[in-house]
Amino acid sequence: MVTLSFTLDSASIDSLLRAGRRPDAAQVRQVLAQARLGRGLDDAQVATLMNIDDPALLEELFASAAEVKRTIYGNRLVIFAPLYISNLCANDCAYCAFSVSNRGLKRRALRTEEIRAEVRHLVRQGHKRVLLVAGEAYPREGFRYVLDAIDTVYKVKEGPGEIRRVNVNVAPLSVEEFRELKGARIGTYQIFQETYHPETYRAVHTRGPKADYDWRLAAMDRAMAAGIEDVGVGVLFGLFEWRWELLALLQHARHLESAYGCGPHTVSVPRLEPASGSRISEHPPKPVSDLDFRVLVAILRLALPYTGIIMSTRESAQMRRDSFALGVSQISAGSRTNPGGYEEDEDACGGVGVEGGTAPHEQLRSHELSDEGGAQFSLGDHRELDEVVADLVRMEYIPSFCTGCYRLGRTGMDFMDLAKPGDIRAHCDPNAVSTFLEYLLDYASPRTRQAGEKLIPALMEKMDEGPRLTARRLVEQVRAGRRDVYC
Ligand code: SAM
Ligand code: SF4
Repeated sequence: MVTLSFTLDSASIDSLLRAGRRPDAAQVRQVLAQARLGRGLDDAQVATLMNIDDPALLEELFASAAEVKRTIYGNRLVIFAPLYISNLCANDCAYCAFSVSNRGLKRRALRTEEIRAEVRHLVRQGHKRVLLVAGEAYPREGFRYVLDAIDTVYKVKEGPGEIRRVNVNVAPLSVEEFRELKGARIGTYQIFQETYHPETYRAVHTRGPKADYDWRLAAMDRAMAAGIEDVGVGVLFGLFEWRWELLALLQHARHLESAYGCGPHTVSVPRLEPASGSRISEHPPKPVSDLDFRVLVAILRLALPYTGIIMSTRESAQMRRDSFALGVSQISAGSRTNPGGYEEDEDACGGVGVEGGTAPHEQLRSHELSDEGGAQFSLGDHRELDEVVADLVRMEYIPSFCTGCYRLGRTGMDFMDLAKPGDIRAHCDPNAVSTFLEYLLDYASPRTRQAGEKLIPALMEKMDEGPRLTARRLVEQVRAGRRDVYC
């Protein structure tokens, strides 16, 4: 029986925003000094940072976020790919191509063999983590469809690789269903409130189970009550004022921390992108400018220093590059948002090879945007995984394919207990290097491999002695042919 649930205090958000005025430099610097300690921020401090408009102070905000990011996450960026298994949906979300009213969309729920084919494709690219995504209507087996799909993903073995962590983004469940989801060995359960603003929520969710704001708002309470310790929250930015949404999301995060001893494992920051059949997606009611977007990512990093920030391929390559330093810690790469999209591209393009054989990007782009493909929205970053990895290496980031924590049971509070004193880096840094080396040896193009091989010793030099010795041991094991080694 769930006794705890989250009630949003909208009045306090309204009053904080009403009181908002341009802060003076001393006030901002005081908040930033506090933020750099890595202990988070309260609502009043967040409101101060939201109201900065002096360009020099904004640069100080960005520099503070970069410092906290570097201290806690080093230069690791965790990589994943979305796996869309179905675009059937009973809801009518005004912004989404999967909405039931979008009659022109080609509907598809992948069957077991089709899911296997998608997973084989992702593994052949080098992925180790997927985010399984579905609309809110399942084929005749009901929710079992999702559980079976997860099982299918974990069972695929392709060459030297496999998917080692399945995170899930599916509609809110009952406590009993969440227990089953936990039993399926998921990593993070993720769901976005889309907008925390009740009136806006009602206006854009007019039909289907998703029209129930409270059921969705309490989803994380039910997930945690069912024993799922890693949950991911998010807002679909562009539906309502970003400042209001950010304060609401932080209230939600604080509620989870005080009720269950552990806040959200991740926060996602999707911005509304054009989607077929959706007028609102072409003209977001409250668009977030690129500058405001960077500000909101930086504030999130300072307010929730130990929570991963996820940025998807909705954003352009340049926006993603700009955001890594500000606090983003997980990114998707080489994504398709139509069920079966990976296989279709492989067929259409004569095979997505690691070297050279990739399709011309224009071809992928037009395919992705067409209604016929059944895609959820259009992408801002169309590069294949190898190109993204090469770009990260150029910027001296380590692309990490690590799945160690979740498999060693370092989740929820156990993870935060290691993360907060900074002890988690002794695990993350060596695991990032060993999984990156696996990628380079098994999947990278020669050029990416050469650049990555140069980066690895340089990165290990920068580690403290303990992690460096561990990294050296793991690297030797991977070079000797072992796979999936972690600490
Ligand atoms: N159907 C489930 C739900 O709505 O919670 C889970 C999957 S849904 C496909 C995943 C997310 O895609 C939604 O939560 C929403 O934030 C995002 N999304 C939908 N339409 C979008 C659009 N036009 N641009 C960007 N993100 C969008
Ligand atoms: Fe369905 Fe989710 Fe798209 Fe809404 S956002 S239409 S619930 S898939």
